[in-house]
Amino acid sequence: MNVHEYQGKGVLKEYGVTVPNGYVAFTADEAVEAAKKLEGDLWVVKAQIHAGGRGKAGGVKLARSLEEVRAFADELLGKVLVTHQTGPEGKEVKRLLIEEGCPIDKEYYIGVVIDRSTERVVMMGSEEGGTEIEEVAAKTPEKIFKEVIDPTVGMLPFQARRLAYNINIPQDKINHAVKFMLSLYQAFVDKDCSLAEINPLVTTKDGRVMALDAKLNFDSNALFRHKDILELRDLDEEDPKEIEASKYDLNYIALDGNIGCMVNGAGLAMATMDIIKHYNGEPANFLDVGGGATEDKVREAFKIILSDENVKGIFVNIFGGIMKCDVIATGVVEAAKQIKLDRPLVVRLEGTNVELGKKILDESGLDIVSADSMADGAEKIVELVKNS
Ligand code: GDP
Ligand code: MN
Repeated sequence: MNVHEYQGKGVLKEYGVTVPNGYVAFTADEAVEAAKKLEGDLWVVKAQIHAGGRGKAGGVKLARSLEEVRAFADELLGKVLVTHQTGPEGKEVKRLLIEEGCPIDKEYYIGVVIDRSTERVVMMGSEEGGTEIEEVAAKTPEKIFKEVIDPTVGMLPFQARRLAYNINIPQDKINHAVKFMLSLYQAFVDKDCSLAEINPLVTTKDGRVMALDAKLNFDSNALFRHKDILELRDLDEEDPKEIEASKYDLNYIALDGNIGCMVNGAGLAMATMDIIKHYNGEPANFLDVGGGATEDKVREAFKIILSDENVKGIFVNIFGGIMKCDVIATGVVEAAKQIKLDRPLVVRLEGTNVELGKKILDESGLDIVSADSMADGAEKIVELVKNS
């Protein structure tokens, strides 16, 4: 799960990671009020969307007066910001972060990730902050330094010190940077993050070391033990179909293609997407209804697939193990009747109660094409969609 920059900074602050003072604002009036509460005569007005690259896209503004704060807030709120991470459709700005401006000395990069090859949490650092780290990794990989962290002892001070020296933090700020890194690591572990990216981490002309930007991702499977984090969820930033799916505990990811897929089991769902691609089709979604899905769940899953305007046909591919084929068939028939099914539907059933399942489909009066195998089904739905 993603959160906004200001929320991420709030979490980090609890752990002693230094961040600039700031407040969230939903209106231009709130933005001005926020600025008044902050000291100094320089403010940063930052668009809050779940995507980076805002700086380059005009989503981060430096204001030198309260009038400018208001003008930038007016400009940004409601604007659709297109950055290299939003895709061409962009994201509408509905919240702003109003922060005290700071005199930047130098920008650095710090990222904490879970590294598959070492099976450890890794903290990465670079003196090339502020820019896209992907670019640094591609062009000057020697400028990225890594510390692999042993989970039994956590991040040790010497590791933080080594990283701080490697990325050329000035001598007089090393201790502060070390505290920063250790606190960041603690927040990452305690809150079950899957990613924490500080780009940039800055040193300031008045001697501070702080996170000017913060991107935190949380492991969705651990959210049950972080109610405080779950409350930070912003549904405006998520695909409405995925929100609906999560209500019914369905594993659903929207994709760009036009063949809706309903499958049980993640492995079978992946294989189904592969076989559709093999026959030159494009899946519209990944959907695993789970092992013990009920009729309700199947019906809702079917509705979600149909609510996607890009879907030109549906392929239901079920292996009835724990899940019974007649349950799936009943759910599909009910859903297809509730929302008038106006697109081709291919169903492949196999396993427990398959005969009963097929009978329910046959007697439904619906126009359903049945398939004998996964490949047969994929071939049929691709053909039907092509001709529709
Ligand atoms: P991103 O583009 O979405 O990653 O947004 P960032 O929060 O990283 O902001 C982009 C850039 O804005 C930073 O790299 C800084 O150069 C600049 N910036 C952000 N806050 C301040 C500030 O308080 N003072 C100054 N001078 N520049 C800032
Ligand atoms: Mn950034």
